[in-house]
Amino acid sequence: MFERGVSVNWPGSAAEVDELCRLIEVWKERLRLMDWRIDVNAQAPHKIEPKDAYATCAAQPEIQFALIAIGWPPAAYGAGYSLEQTVIHELIHAVLSPVFKVWEHLVEDAGPFAGPVAVALAAATDLAEVAVDKLACALRGLSDGDQNNADDGTHGAGGEGSV
Ligand SMILES: [Zn+2]
Repeated sequence: MFERGVSVNWPGSAAEVDELCRLIEVWKERLRLMDWRIDVNAQAPHKIEPKDAYATCAAQPEIQFALIAIGWPPAAYGAGYSLEQTVIHELIHAVLSPVFKVWEHLVEDAGPFAGPVAVALAAATDLAEVAVDKLACALRGLSDGDQNNADDGTHGAGGEGSV
């Protein structure tokens, strides 16, 4: 098994790298992902799909590993962008990843029903996206001790963006 913890490939200043590592370590623990390894890579915004996303998370729950790609530089997303919100959002995807692995296996094993099951998975993924973003917003708001943060979406992504 590989080492647990956090590995970051981030072209910012030393202070920016430290801040990203801090955010991941704090939220990794808060979300009870202590046994996970989280690797984070910077990614050019135009290479992130879908186009309105700030980041992506490819999780492998069977080995407790997630590879998160975050759009860089953060300034590309404007003044309302929150790197912390993006980190929380992507780590929630890691938390939920076992659920979606079950779905993926269902698609693989569905035989002639693979098409309809895949459609259902796509719909569930879209619905989960909304829930993930609401949870990330709420958690960040609780963390800040600022209830407005969780309610009005004036901070960070505010609803959309991180996928
Ligand atoms: Zn997402």
